[in-house]
Amino acid sequence: MNGKKIPQRKCVGCNEMKDKSLLVRVVKTPEDTFLVDASGRANGRGAYICKDIECFHKAMKNKGLERSLKCKIPEDIVKRLEEEMI
Ligand SMILES: [Zn+2]
Repeated sequence: MNGKKIPQRKCVGCNEMKDKSLLVRVVKTPEDTFLVDASGRANGRGAYICKDIECFHKAMKNKGLERSLKCKIPEDIVKRLEEEMI
């Protein structure tokens, strides 16, 4: 019953707005390294994706992550991200 709004972010896979808690954040830091950011607090440019293997596959197919972060995502980060998926 509290009026607190849950922050929403857009998934790069399905392009829908989702509660932040349902998303995984991928960050490109100012040092040009990549993180799968569980805390959601790392510095840098972030992209969000549902913790859903289907969204992961969609994002790989439509290059949503690359477009959102404006560069190629390293393979180990893609793998790391896949491990977060349900
Ligand atoms: Zn999604």
